[in-house]
Amino acid sequence: MAFVILDPCRGEKAGECVSVCPVDCIEEGIKQFYIDPDICIDCGACKAVCPVSAIEEEYDLTPDQEKYLEEAEEFFANR
Ligand code: SF4
Ligand code: SF4
Repeated sequence: MAFVILDPCRGEKAGECVSVCPVDCIEEGIKQFYIDPDICIDCGACKAVCPVSAIEEEYDLTPDQEKYLEEAEEFFANR
């Protein structure tokens, strides 16, 4: 399981989450930041600091939010 960044990040995108991640698995994309789901250790530190509540745990995603996990997987697969 991993944490996933959702679309509220697209209007903020200041990167507070990046500096608190203990495994350095958050990177900036063109539209928003993304969490590498293969490296995330589910600590929740990023979710606690996000000013726009853009970060959710994978198992809390609604069906229409699953696309953000897929986008993150594609982002890290295509780098
Ligand atoms: S803290 Fe939230 S809004 Fe800011 S870059 Fe991270 S996910 Fe995006
Ligand atoms: S839950 Fe922890 S390990 Fe995963 S992206 Fe957020 S800060 Fe990094």
